[in-house]
Amino acid sequence: MRKTIIAGNWKLYKTINEAIELANGLKRELFKANFSAVDVVLCPVFTALSEVAEVLNETDIQLGAQDLYWQDEGAFTGEVSAPMLKDAGCRYVIIGHSERRQFFGETNEMVNKKIKAALKHELTPIICVGENLQEREANNTFKVIEGHIQGALVDISAKDMLKSVIAYEPVWAIGTGKTATGEQAQEVHKFIRDLLRKIYGEEVASSVRIQYGGSVKPENIVELMGKPDVDGALVGGASLKVDSFSSIVIKASEVVK
Ligand code: PEP
Repeated sequence: MRKTIIAGNWKLYKTINEAIELANGLKRELFKANFSAVDVVLCPVFTALSEVAEVLNETDIQLGAQDLYWQDEGAFTGEVSAPMLKDAGCRYVIIGHSERRQFFGETNEMVNKKIKAALKHELTPIICVGENLQEREANNTFKVIEGHIQGALVDISAKDMLKSVIAYEPVWAIGTGKTATGEQAQEVHKFIRDLLRKIYGEEVASSVRIQYGGSVKPENIVELMGKPDVDGALVGGASLKVDSFSSIVIKASEVVK
């Protein structure tokens, strides 16, 4: 049984006060509902991590970051390391988001180093993979996904893989309002799970959670969660409002697999 995981990627939004307000709103709204069947993770900007950690203290909502650097410390101006994220209260970290690959030149090799750093410091990596529109239209979706997965997982043991989460995020569906259909998501999620089976065997393949990300909203979460290999969602835009994110969490918690 894989526990559903819904994560909110707040991207480059929210000042510290706005982040506190959003976290407090979610805490209030989710407290009224029973979401124990779902792992909920909030990923604010670095500057708001400590304050949001304080808001989430003694709740079941977890904190995550949106990126890290693979060195623990040193002369790396502008970077933030895994021990620093732990220090700020994080349990999760998003790695290899398509916006980082696209705008900041992240390669599979860098993604792999970041995953290793996260695991070394007991942070759960949310490893993002996904094809862009051109790649999908050229029928290269599986090839791209396989490249992202193989590249990300170089020298990652089965034991460490069991501690990781994968997010399938088709780039053409991120922030565009275009969602993959349940069938499109399931097709790629199954492909990823089959790939994990080939690399690591059945235990890892059947245990690792694979989230879908790309314009997830309260209106489409039930269809997506209804698919056998979709174990949750990585939510961008809709995670920035109390109503939409709490509704996604509650609806996801009601889908029985
Ligand atoms: C994301 O940021 O990972 C994402 C999926 O964004 P959105 O939900 O806005 O498409």
